[in-house]
Amino acid sequence: MSNINVKKLINERSQLLEELKSLTQILHGSWVERYSICSRKNCKCHKGERHGPRHYLVINNYGRQRQKYIPNSLVDSTQKGVRQYQRLTDIIDRITCINLELIKERKYGQNEPTVM
Ligand SMILES: [Zn+2]
Repeated sequence: MSNINVKKLINERSQLLEELKSLTQILHGSWVERYSICSRKNCKCHKGERHGPRHYLVINNYGRQRQKYIPNSLVDSTQKGVRQYQRLTDIIDRITCINLELIKERKYGQNEPTVM
């Protein structure tokens, strides 16, 4: 691989790392919609027209699963947060590919600031 291609990869990686900063709404969870029956006896929900959907985000946090109720006004932004998590994992996969290329070229971990 030429030096130019190595430079391209490093540039792409920098852009991806920059993009990570914009993913401020990340939510690692899955989406659940529920329809429910209430306690009012004569309500239409008892005849099949259930209330809902009510939205929940199922979150695995440190090994514990929680369901968080999401009000309708926040459904759009919460869905965006879930998509941002997907983007995060795509970026990690792409950076892994780039770094594997750099390992192959013996250009990995050289002259780079290290955090760990
Ligand atoms: Zn009802």
